[in-house]
Amino acid sequence: SPWQASVLTLFPEMFPGPLGQSLAGKALREGRWALEAIDIRGFATDRHRSVDDTPCGGGAGMVLRPDVVDAACAAALAAGPDRPLVVLTPRGRPLDQAMVRGFAAAPGVVLLCGRFEGIDQRVIEARAMTEVSIGDYVLSGGEPAALVLLDACVRLLPGVMGAAESGEEESFSSGLLEYPHYTRPTVWNDRAVPPVLLSGHHAEIARWRRAQAEAITRERRPELWARYAAANPIAASRAP
Ligand code: SAM
Repeated sequence: SPWQASVLTLFPEMFPGPLGQSLAGKALREGRWALEAIDIRGFATDRHRSVDDTPCGGGAGMVLRPDVVDAACAAALAAGPDRPLVVLTPRGRPLDQAMVRGFAAAPGVVLLCGRFEGIDQRVIEARAMTEVSIGDYVLSGGEPAALVLLDACVRLLPGVMGAAESGEEESFSSGLLEYPHYTRPTVWNDRAVPPVLLSGHHAEIARWRRAQAEAITRERRPELWARYAAANPIAASRAP
């Protein structure tokens, strides 16, 4: 059975959205993954179909109710119980490629999207949800974050990326940011492609690319560089 994504949201019409296009969209149509958007409002029980209420302790905005969210989680998990239950929240662990690889290797994921001020903490704890953030900024809802997480997972599923898009050398696969890319024309607006890339010397090209990747990582992402350098002392000794 295909990798199964279930998204719990108040805006199910946001899915598949951009994931219906390009690589992910093709894979969806080919049945390499499946996506269901579940409307949290469908689990409201009162006659107003309310999903939220004012925050205990006061303050602005509204908070998603634990009973309604819990019922939506139960419905999603019934269709695939061994999937991690992930809540998108700025308070979560920052998403990285290692976490993406883990989710892609699971049978699928259940993603809970918050809105308003967020979700009652009790249901997050009761369901032992994995709290994931896509970065240190605040979105108006979890849906764009869910799309980001799904896009990153889907491209890693078997048969989704062709050899042409192979992820073997890209950013983070080696612990480094990727080297820069060039294509024709070989001279554009007085800017030439680095000559080594036109030399045909595969070993020299590989060396140049690794040096570029190391330099850019050192410059832009000192924390990534420190981890890489600890694991690659020879590379670290080459650094200026
Ligand atoms: N009051 C919350 C706080 O300060 O942490 C922000 C709530 S935000 C306006 C509404 C919803 O957007 C959140 O419940 C979460 O699902 C989602 N969200 C916002 N920023 C996010 C981020 N960086 N990563 C993942 N989800 C995010």
